[in-house]
Amino acid sequence: MSAAVDGELTLKEEQDFLLHLVECRECKEEFEDAKKTKMIIKERIVQFKAPQTLINSIMQLTIVSTREPEDTLLYE
Ligand SMILES: [Zn+2]
Repeated sequence: MSAAVDGELTLKEEQDFLLHLVECRECKEEFEDAKKTKMIIKERIVQFKAPQTLINSIMQLTIVSTREPEDTLLYE
Protein backbone atom coordinates (compact mmCIF):
# COMPACT_ATOMS: atom_id res chain seq x y z
CA MET A 1 0.00 0.00 0.00
CA SER A 2 2.67 2.53 0.91
CA ALA A 3 4.67 1.63 -2.19
CA ALA A 4 1.57 2.34 -4.24
CA VAL A 5 1.12 5.72 -2.55
CA ASP A 6 4.78 6.55 -3.11
CA GLY A 7 4.48 5.54 -6.76
CA GLU A 8 7.12 2.85 -6.31
CA LEU A 9 5.22 0.02 -7.95
CA THR A 10 6.18 -1.43 -11.29
CA LEU A 11 3.74 -0.81 -14.14
CA LYS A 12 2.36 -4.34 -13.81
CA GLU A 13 2.00 -4.08 -10.05
CA GLU A 14 0.31 -0.71 -10.37
CA GLN A 15 -2.17 -2.07 -12.93
CA ASP A 16 -3.02 -5.02 -10.68
CA PHE A 17 -3.36 -2.70 -7.75
CA LEU A 18 -5.64 -0.26 -9.57
CA LEU A 19 -7.76 -3.13 -10.87
CA HIS A 20 -8.12 -4.37 -7.31
CA LEU A 21 -9.16 -0.89 -6.15
CA VAL A 22 -12.03 -0.93 -8.65
CA GLU A 23 -13.38 -4.10 -7.02
CA CYS A 24 -12.44 -3.50 -3.41
CA ARG A 25 -13.91 -0.48 -1.70
CA GLU A 26 -11.94 -1.07 1.48
CA CYS A 27 -8.58 -0.84 -0.26
CA LYS A 28 -9.74 2.10 -2.35
CA GLU A 29 -10.65 4.05 0.78
CA GLU A 30 -7.38 3.09 2.42
CA PHE A 31 -5.49 4.21 -0.67
CA GLU A 32 -7.33 7.56 -0.83
CA ASP A 33 -6.64 8.16 2.86
CA ALA A 34 -2.99 7.27 2.48
CA LYS A 35 -2.67 9.58 -0.50
CA LYS A 36 -4.22 12.48 1.44
CA THR A 37 -1.89 11.89 4.37
CA LYS A 38 1.06 11.70 2.02
CA MET A 39 0.13 14.99 0.37
CA ILE A 40 -0.17 16.74 3.73
CA ILE A 41 3.25 15.44 4.71
CA LYS A 42 4.70 16.56 1.36
CA GLU A 43 3.26 20.06 1.76
CA ARG A 44 4.77 20.31 5.21
CA ILE A 45 8.16 19.19 3.95
CA VAL A 46 8.02 21.76 1.15
CA GLN A 47 7.16 24.51 3.62
CA PHE A 48 9.88 23.34 5.94
CA LYS A 49 12.45 23.27 3.16
CA ALA A 50 11.67 26.79 1.99
CA PRO A 51 14.35 28.69 3.94
CA GLN A 52 17.67 27.29 2.75
CA THR A 53 19.56 28.99 5.57
CA LEU A 54 17.53 27.02 8.09
CA ILE A 55 18.44 23.74 6.39
CA ASN A 56 22.08 24.75 6.41
CA SER A 57 21.95 25.47 10.13
CA ILE A 58 20.30 22.14 10.82
CA MET A 59 22.83 20.31 8.66
CA GLN A 60 25.62 22.08 10.48
CA LEU A 61 24.16 21.10 13.85
CA THR A 62 23.76 17.50 12.71
CA ILE A 63 27.35 17.34 11.49
CA VAL A 64 28.68 18.88 14.69
CA SER A 65 26.63 16.66 16.98
CA THR A 66 27.74 13.46 15.22
CA ARG A 67 31.44 14.38 15.31
CA GLU A 68 33.93 13.58 17.99
CA PRO A 69 34.52 16.59 20.29
CA GLU A 70 37.97 17.34 18.83
CA ASP A 71 36.52 17.53 15.31
CA THR A 72 33.83 20.03 16.31
CA LEU A 73 36.59 22.58 16.91
CA LEU A 74 37.03 22.78 13.15
CA TYR A 75 33.53 24.20 12.80
CA GLU A 76 33.94 27.03 15.26
ZN1 LIG B 1 -8.75 -5.07 -1.09
